[in-house]
Amino acid sequence: MGAAAPVTVLHAGGCHCGRVRFEVTAPAEITVAECNCSICAKAGFLHLIVRKSDFRLLQGEESLATYTFNTGTAKHVFCKVCGIKSFYVPRSHPDGFSVNARCLDPGTVDRMEVRPFDGVNWESSVKEKKWSD
Ligand SMILES: [Zn+2]
Repeated sequence: MGAAAPVTVLHAGGCHCGRVRFEVTAPAEITVAECNCSICAKAGFLHLIVRKSDFRLLQGEESLATYTFNTGTAKHVFCKVCGIKSFYVPRSHPDGFSVNARCLDPGTVDRMEVRPFDGVNWESSVKEKKWSD
């Protein structure tokens, strides 16, 4: 017998001012990545990587601005009003989303394990699959 499938729940979250709101289907016990790259280190972003189909933007699309740098693959979207990046499209998973675990509403996360991700050495770290799925 393998490990039991994780129980998934509906987490809700959003930016600080409340214009951007989303919901995401993910386990109640989540593993998130703390990345040390130039932008994540400054923002303190904690990555919860999900499939595109597990993420729904409920409101606030008109309040989002996009910032890109380096390869331009990652789409760093943030709220134009409050400046908070509550989710974005990461370079490691361009077909999915990275949700900022710090922007999830309290109450649905039973446990959170934080794993370091060496985004300074992004190419080798992704090759070695150090990014949690
Ligand atoms: Zn906002």
